Formats: sequence, C-alpha cells, structure tokens
Amino acid sequence: MKNVDQFNGMKVLVLGLAKSGFAASKLLHSAGAHVTVNDASPDEGNEEAAALRLEGIQVICGGHPSGILDEGFDLVVKNPGIPYSNLVVAEALKKKIPVWTEIELTSRISEAPIIAITGSNGKTTTTTLLYHMLNIGGKHPLIAGNIGTVSCAVAEEATRDNIIVLEASSFQLMGTETFRPSIAIWTNLYDAHLDYHGSSEAYALAKSAISSNQTPEDYFIYNDDQPELRNYALRSDAKKVPFSLTGMKTHGISADDEQIYWNGEPYVNRSVIKLPGLHNLENILAATAAAILSGCDKTAIENVLSSFTGVRHRMQFVKELKGRKFYNDSKATNTLATKSALAAFNVPTILLAGGLDRGQSFEELRPYMANSKAVVVLGETAEKFATFAESCGIQKIIRADNVTDAVQKAYPLTESGDIILLSPACASWDQYPSFEARGDQFIEAVMQL
Ligand code: ADP
Repeated sequence: MKNVDQFNGMKVLVLGLAKSGFAASKLLHSAGAHVTVNDASPDEGNEEAAALRLEGIQVICGGHPSGILDEGFDLVVKNPGIPYSNLVVAEALKKKIPVWTEIELTSRISEAPIIAITGSNGKTTTTTLLYHMLNIGGKHPLIAGNIGTVSCAVAEEATRDNIIVLEASSFQLMGTETFRPSIAIWTNLYDAHLDYHGSSEAYALAKSAISSNQTPEDYFIYNDDQPELRNYALRSDAKKVPFSLTGMKTHGISADDEQIYWNGEPYVNRSVIKLPGLHNLENILAATAAAILSGCDKTAIENVLSSFTGVRHRMQFVKELKGRKFYNDSKATNTLATKSALAAFNVPTILLAGGLDRGQSFEELRPYMANSKAVVVLGETAEKFATFAESCGIQKIIRADNVTDAVQKAYPLTESGDIILLSPACASWDQYPSFEARGDQFIEAVMQL
C-alpha cells in the first residue's frame, strides 16, 4: 500500500455496508481515519456491522438519519449502487464534500499498476480473458471489482509485482476524482442504466472517467468502430490504442476474416480462437492489446485464445453430445445480448428464450432468427416470444415450464451439427433468483441428458 497517510485523521462517512462499504471502512480505519458507517438496513443480525464495531468503528443502521452530515465529514465513500438522489449523497454534494466510490481509494493506495475495463457489454469476458493471459504470461495479476473481490481490499495486498485487473462499472467510475489506470479499456457504449444516470450523455460521461486522468504514459484501448468512443479517445491524453473489426489497420489492434493484426502486422490467426461470436472477438482484441502492452509474450496469449471457451453463463460452451453443442448464455437478459449470441453461430439452432416480462419487444432479434429451426419458450414472456417466433416463420415452437423442461423438450428436436442455445433475452427473476441459478439449472439438465 502507498500513501496511506493521506487518510490519517480524516473524518469519513461510509454509506452502505455491502461488500464494498465493509472493505472501505476497514481500510480507512486502519489508515487512521475516523470512520462512521451508515446503512439503511436493520441492525439486527447484521454481521458486518457487528464485525466493524468490534474493530472500534461507529456503525449506524436502520436508515439515514437527517443531519448525519452535521458532524463535519471530510469525505463520503458510498456504495456504487446508492443513487445520487439519496438524501445524504445530495446533501454531501451540496456541502461540497467529496463523494467517492471505493475504486478511488484503490487508485490512491495501489502499488500495483491498474488495468481497468469498462463498457456496456463485455466487461466480465474481457476482464477474465485478460486475467488468464497475464496469469499464463507470469505477470501475477489480481482480479478485482464487480467480478470478484472488492478492489480496495485487493489493492491493500497488492505489490509492485502484481497487476490489478479491475472490472469497473459506470456507477463506480462516477465516484472518482484522481482514478488513473495505466491501461484503460472501454469495450463499447450502448444505452443502459438510464434510471440511475438520468440520460445517455450522463452515462457516457460517467464511463469516460476511465481515461480522463490518464497521461501520455498510459494507454487507452477503445472501440474504434463506435464513433462516440472515437470522440472520447480524442479527449484523452493517453496513448491511443484503437480496436476494430473492419479489416487491417496500421495502428492499434484489428481483425479481418482471417487474422488479428497488431499495428498492421499479422499477429495471430483467427482459427486458433475458441470463443464464438464477433462480439467476443471485440473482447479478445481489447484483452490481447492490454496483454501485449503489459509485456505478455505471444505464446501466453495464444494459449488462452485456443483454450478459453467462455465465462460461466456468457456464451459458455457446456458440452457436446452426439454432435449437438450446448451453450449457456443465461446472462443474456436483454435482446442486445441475445442478438450477439444468435449472430455468433451460422448453424441450425434451437433457441431457449423467455423470462421476466418488462414490457419489452423482441423485434430487434428478427434479422437474427433465420438459423433458429425451433424455439422453446418459457417464463412470463413465453407467449409473447412464441408469437414473435411464429411471425418470423418458425414452425416448431414448444412451451416449457422451466429450463430443465426446456432442455428435455429441445433435445429430441435436434440432429448432429445443431446448437442448443439458452439465451433468454429476458431477466430471470420471474422464475429464478438470478441468471446464475437459471444457467446452473441449464448445465445440470444438459449433464443429465
Ligand atoms: P458485462 O460484464 O459487461 O455485463 P459480459 O462479458 O458478462 O459483459 O457479457 C454479457 C453479455 O453481453 C453476454 O452474454 C453477451 O451476449 C453480450 N456481450 C459480451 N461482450 C459483448 C460485446 N463486446 N458487444 C456486445 N455484446 C457483448
């Protein structure tokens, strides 16, 4: 840890006691700050609150008392999920008290360089790919952020010999001031989280914090096929590393149908890549560029490209059974994700889709349904998806009670060479506690066939 003295004697309010609040409180307390934690959930049975009190940290649970800021805090560290409309947050900003998320702490104390990854889609896949490349390349990476351990806790342990690979959301990036990764990756920009950010512009601006403090010593890897991201790159002082799928480019990392190119030179043949889908090729380009810039050799990178078959629940290859391949894309909780999944395969597909009804339309999928020889529908949107599939001219439409039933009904419809794809285009909460639980049930049902 470096520069821990900066927090000594500071009066800090930590808002929200989830994993990030817990880690931030402990870190700040051990760095000599006077920490008060405030969480809206009840005190009773709150093990984290009890553990922090044992260390001598003041914890106020059960609501946000009005006037809590009258105690004169120097800093508020908030859980990324707490919106800016929260009364304490709004009051803090009015009083000009800095409001950070824990990734700002991470950047301030980390001895290890940070590679941060953001984007509307592909964060987890890119982060995981890069982690494996750095790991095999002997760079001692530590994975942090949304994907796993809270990043400030990782930074406490990290040394100069590590590299922190940090998956960063727009919520986290919005609470930063000096956050400066040595390599920033911005995979793509689509409208998302408008309820939190208020507008597309505010959402994009929050994400742009990933590179706004970078200097010419740093690198900014971004999607050059999206004009908006190109514009953000123009504003960054970092060395620009564009990635593009539109053929060979002399600068950055690019791909055509055959090859991946690094600064215009063939780098690796695409035939070695196991991960399906053009969207995943974007993630691969971004991760490969970051691995090259971190000093990984080509063997390590190729090794990952030829063995990595997907992050669990994200176009994850599950199994091949008598020539049929099963893919679990349970994380596809919207049509954009299912669109990418369908576009990834050019073979007859049995699509398992449907879930929570948010009043959405599936029209966006229409151009991608041509390979779907059958559709198994489930969940709240089953009938809606069935009507949509019928209007696309799909003959075989089967209703299923749940994912297990869907797998059992899908298998007899297949022949060798087909793909069975769970990519629901809907959230899972109508039938499952999470998309992970839904995907786990898919894997189990496949294994039992
Ligand atoms: P995130 O962590 O940003 O949510 P994931 O890597 O978990 O992203 O992927 C979530 C879903 O988004 C995947 O199931 C896939 O269908 C889609 N996806 C992944 N990468 C991309 C990309 N680069 N562009 C568009 N869609 C993508």
